[in-house]
Amino acid sequence: MPETVALIVAAGRGSRMPGDVPKQYRYLHGRPILRHVLDAFLTHPAISGVCTVIHPDDGAWFVEASQGLALGPPVLGGETRQDSVRNGLEALARGTAPERVLIHDGARPLVSSALINRVIGALDDAEAAVPALPMTDTVKRVAGNTIIETVDRGGLFRAQTPQGFRFPALLSAHKSAAENSGTHDFTDDASIAEAAGLRVAVVAGEERNIKITHDDDLTRATAWLHGARETRVGSGFDVHAFGPGDSVRLGGVDIPHSQALAGHSDADVALHALTDAILGAIGDGDIGSHFPPSDARWSGADSSQFLVHAADLLRQRLGALIHADLTIICEQPRIGPHRDAMRARIADILAVDTDRISVKATTTEGLGFTGRSEGIAAQASVTITLEASR
Ligand code: MG
Repeated sequence: MPETVALIVAAGRGSRMPGDVPKQYRYLHGRPILRHVLDAFLTHPAISGVCTVIHPDDGAWFVEASQGLALGPPVLGGETRQDSVRNGLEALARGTAPERVLIHDGARPLVSSALINRVIGALDDAEAAVPALPMTDTVKRVAGNTIIETVDRGGLFRAQTPQGFRFPALLSAHKSAAENSGTHDFTDDASIAEAAGLRVAVVAGEERNIKITHDDDLTRATAWLHGARETRVGSGFDVHAFGPGDSVRLGGVDIPHSQALAGHSDADVALHALTDAILGAIGDGDIGSHFPPSDARWSGADSSQFLVHAADLLRQRLGALIHADLTIICEQPRIGPHRDAMRARIADILAVDTDRISVKATTTEGLGFTGRSEGIAAQASVTITLEASR
């Protein structure tokens, strides 16, 4: 696959929004707008590197927005957008120039992975590719507050970014534009490619891929992101056999009994089933892959730490537990007297309200290994809410 680098243009001054913070550094859904953009490209499997062009005054803002990311130092922008992009391209050319470059506005935070794929895919057959949407409103030419004419919207499209290019072609188009076009300011890179005679292909844009320009845009983007959550269900199941001892650990609670549960850790089947249910809901392996029984660290371990780890992984994905429902299957010991203590303990471990935790018990009517009191089984279902994957 040809090497593709993303060049993020975040050098604009954005005088159209009030407040001191440049628009690309304003917060959207808990992260700076530019951070949404950087995350989208850095996590995309077809993008091998990200280079950002910033305004010379925005160094501190950029440090905050890019905290913890593996990024090189930003390139400083110029007088116009065109100058800024050229600075970025020349910086890339001084390093190991990529075969392809995607140029994206730092204020378009809702770019999707599918859109990036469409632009990259179109570069197989064209030197340049631009996402665009057809005009659906009737278009008027206006002077002052009066319509001069109605423009035929047939064949008119609104261009978005990322705009993709074969790198050497765009670099030379930018260089000749700088030499030959005088004061003409190109507002996107496709215009520069067109002026250089390159064939620019069009792929489908996305309505969500808005450029945050006015306060209204920020409100719209926030509403989209809040709506973009999904609900998932995970299930878990576990069994441990009885062995010698005088109590069992179940649901994080010690219950006196004539036997104990045997296992590498404290053998808490209930917490193991719950841990697997959460890992299942986030699609992140199972308890054995996170805490291998071959690892001596987990010998005799308190299983609450397994559940805490799964809950941490859920939170790292900006997720939350809605509800957990646990069923313990055994003839003995009796679970009922310990139900409330287990619910409280599990709620405490997961840092949620007790009413989000259910503990049920059943027997198998004397049938099977649980019926013969050879061990205890537990099954769990959890419901979680998570940021929808884009
Ligand atoms: Mg287990």
